[in-house]
Order: sequence, then structure tokens, then C-alpha cells
Amino acid sequence: MSTATIAPPAVSQTKNLINGKWVDAASGETFETYNPATGEVIANVAKGGKADVDAAVKAAQKAFASWSVTSNRQRGRLLHKLADLVEENAAELAGLEVLNNGKPIAEVMAADIPLVVSTYRYYAEWADKIYGETIPVDVPGFFCYTKKEPVGVAGQIIPWNFPLLMQAWKWAPCLAAGCVSILKPAEQTPLSALRVGELAMEAGIPAGVVQIVNGFGETGAALVEHPGVDKIAFTGHYETAQHIMAGAAKTLKRVTFELGGKSPNVVFADADLDQAVAGAMTGIFFNQGEVCCAGSRLLIEASVHDEFVAKFKAAAESHTVGDPFDPNTRQGAQISQEQFDKILSYIDIGKKEATCVTGGERSGDKGWFVKPTIFTGVNNDMRIAQEEIFGPVVSVIPFKDFDDAAKQANQTIYGLASAVWTRDIGKAHALADKIRAGTVWVNCYNTFDAAAPFGGYKFSGQGRECGRDGLNNYTETKTVWVNTAY
Ligand code: NAP
Ligand code: MG
Repeated sequence: MSTATIAPPAVSQTKNLINGKWVDAASGETFETYNPATGEVIANVAKGGKADVDAAVKAAQKAFASWSVTSNRQRGRLLHKLADLVEENAAELAGLEVLNNGKPIAEVMAADIPLVVSTYRYYAEWADKIYGETIPVDVPGFFCYTKKEPVGVAGQIIPWNFPLLMQAWKWAPCLAAGCVSILKPAEQTPLSALRVGELAMEAGIPAGVVQIVNGFGETGAALVEHPGVDKIAFTGHYETAQHIMAGAAKTLKRVTFELGGKSPNVVFADADLDQAVAGAMTGIFFNQGEVCCAGSRLLIEASVHDEFVAKFKAAAESHTVGDPFDPNTRQGAQISQEQFDKILSYIDIGKKEATCVTGGERSGDKGWFVKPTIFTGVNNDMRIAQEEIFGPVVSVIPFKDFDDAAKQANQTIYGLASAVWTRDIGKAHALADKIRAGTVWVNCYNTFDAAAPFGGYKFSGQGRECGRDGLNNYTETKTVWVNTAY
């Protein structure tokens, strides 16, 4: 579909989805949601609280009783139906995503929408393929097997950087496994999630199987603390995950986390430098740098450092920043005033620590746009090399040789993703072995597929999303022993 024709759509839904009905918050309260490209208010959204979470949990428990025993293939069919409706309404959903998030329409149509559709379809196909094993136990006269059973009610708390995709990564495996979801979208970006909620109802997904309670961190915390919620799936900052883990301890909920990163993007001197520059651009400037796996530490072999930086600077300076609805735009607006201020404050810190070779300031005078920013002369002790900025800001760090690259790549609390650029395939595999991170891209960056597990080591999370691993988050293993001599 051409992106040239996509204009901001009308907002169709701003309420909470509880037990199949669109309802105001019990308190009657609402909050404003913004267009990051202009800073203007788009809509007022129902602000859910404890009472709304309570109502959703009651409905979820009831829905779980029937959804968990619904025919597997029927669950798969409903997920396929949702995928069909997302495809049919792709332009509207993409428009809502751009309006509420500020990301470029071209990227939403090329990346977010196809990934969302394929995630629903991929897990639709898993629905009738979730099964246990027969276990060759060394106990004469006994037959032993395992079953995979759904965990129950999942509280799913998602961030604002990929609203549609994070919703799909949460809903699709959850529903395929026979669990039910109460989703809390990020307060910044509720609109596309609510439209998909409408499509889920249109698809015939039963009341209470997917519910949406809008709100702020305290609404998420109400889900975390509720004894009727069996599991929390969270994507966001590690400090929030620490609160969630502590909160979930009281009811011993299962938790899975997909957190941030400071991912090393390692370029060896023998790489195709033009391709590596293109990869570095995607690595840090895709989605305005608001990407958990952004290649924000760019490790360059010293012998090609200056040549690489010259090419990279030229590419960054020709990157089109602006109106996210313009199909030629490659970098849109940052999500919020808060995030914009955070990025600019890190740029100030960076200017004291290192050398800013391009960018380093806002772009335009309206909305929350930041110029693509490159720092050189960075080392791993600096704050801009260690802390997640979550914006279009990259730290270039030189390295001497393979061992130095491996060491510096791991000098971080995080371990979400990484990349290596080299024509030497042996070296690529050797570095892939050394890096403690959930993903290693070789001569590419930001490649995703619903079938490929994604998640973090260390402070970057626990559990994996996508692939068969993604289902594990939503199943319990039951072992059944049968005394065959009985
Ligand atoms: P965040 O605070 O981690 O928020 C993520 C989600 O958790 C939101 O839905 C948030 O609600 C909710 N939440 C906040 N406090 C909670 C609590 N105590 N219990 C349960 N849920 C809670 O992230 P943020 O404030 O949006 O962004 C801050 C930083 O996090 C960014 O600058 C970036 O570094 C990082 N981040 C990482 C990712 C990622 O994909 N790994 C995504 C987004 C942000 P609210 O909507 O009210 O905040
Ligand atoms: Mg927040």
C-alpha cells in the first residue's frame, strides 16, 4: 500500500475494554494523549485504576475457564481472523501509530504492520501444536508424560516505542497458549492498542479474553499486586522491572521482562564499510533511537575509525528528520517532552565527556524532534556509553583488536543485542560466542521475525519473546504418572 495517501485518522476508541464492553473508568477520570510531532492533545483517554483492574480480573478469570478449554484450532482461527482485520485496517492503524507515537509512516508500513500481522499469524499456527512429551522414566510399571497447560490470567504492561508490535508480541502467544490478557498500554500511546481491541471484538474473540485498562504506572502496579493475576509480562525500563519483581513477590507471580540495552555494534576493519555505515544508521536512528536493542555503542576498529566516522557523519547529516506523515521522512518525533528533555540532557553530558561531531540539538522549533547525534572519543566509563539514552544518540568507541572488541562489547550491565561486521565468517562466529547478549546480528542490524526468539541477558530481561520460546512464558508443565500395573 502506498504510504503517500495516509493521513491522520479519526480516533475511534478512548475507553477501557472490560468484559467485552467499552467503558469509562470507574472514577470517571481521563488523561490527555498527545501528538509528538506537534505537542498537541489528540484525545482524552479513560484513566483506569484499581477498581477497573479488579473488574477486569473478575472477567478474566471467568473467561479463562472457557478459553483455556476452547478447541485449539478455534483459538488459532480467531488469531488468524484478528490478523486479517489488522491487514484490512492497516492504513488506519498505521496512521494512529504515527499520530500517537511520532514515528515515520514509511517505517510503520514497512516494518511495524507486517511484523504485527505475521506475529498474530505465527502464533495462530502454534495454537494446535503445544504439547508435552512422553518421558522414559526408569521406574518399571509406570507411564509418565507431560502436558503444557496455560498459566492463566496474564497482566501485560507495554511501552510506547512499538505500541502495535508490543501488543502483538504479548497477545498472540498468550492467546495461542490458552491464557487471557489484561493489557495496559503505555500512557503515551493507547490509541492503536484500543483500535486493535475493537478489531479483536469484531474477530469474535470472546469477552474477557483480551481486555485493556489504560492508565499510568499505578495501574500497572495494580495488575502486579492483584492476587487474581497469575503472570506479568513487561517491556520497559529495568528500574520499573525491579519494582514489578518486588511487587510480584507477594503473590509469587511468574514474571517475564524485556528491558533495555546499550548494545554493541562492532565494526572490524575488514568489513564492507558502506554496508556497516548503513547498518549503524539503522542501528541507532531507526524509530528515533527509541529502540531497546538500538546499536548505541558503535565499536570501530581503530585502523578504519576516521574513515568510518567521516562516512557515518555524512549519512547522518543527510537523514531526513521531520513530519512523520511525509513518506520521505526517515526520523520522526521523540515520544514526549519528558523523553525529549532526557535525550537533550544526555547530549549535554556527552558534550562534556566526549566530542559531538554532528547533531547535538533539537531539530525544528515545534514538536519533539532531535537531530541525529554522533559522539566520538567515547570510552566505556562515560555515562553516555553506559546509560540507556533511548534517542538518536550514538557513542563511537575505538577498539584495537578482536580481544579488545570482545571485552568492550561486554562492558555493560545490559545484554539485549549486538552486531558484528566483518568479511571473516570465522571471526564473526567467534565474536558471537563471546558476546553475552540475547541476539547477535552478523552483517545486519534490527532483523526481526516472529519465529526468532528475542530477549535479554543480564539487566536486559528474562524470558524470550517470539518463536517457540515465547510460548514458554504462557505455559506450565504438568507431569502425569500412571501406574500401569494398577
Ligand atoms: P517504563 O516506566 O518502564 O514504562 C513501561 C510501562 O510500565 C508503561 O506502561 C508504564 O506506565 C508501566 N509502569 C511504570 N511504572 C510501573 C509500575 N511501578 N508497575 C507496573 N507498571 C509500571 O518506561 P518509560 O517511563 O515509558 O520510559 C523510561 C525509559 O525506559 C526510557 O527512557 C527508556 O530508556 C526505557 N524504555 C525501554 C523500553 C524497551 O523497549 N526496553 C521501552 C520504553 C522505555 P506509564 O505509561 O505510566 O509509564
Ligand atoms: Mg513511565
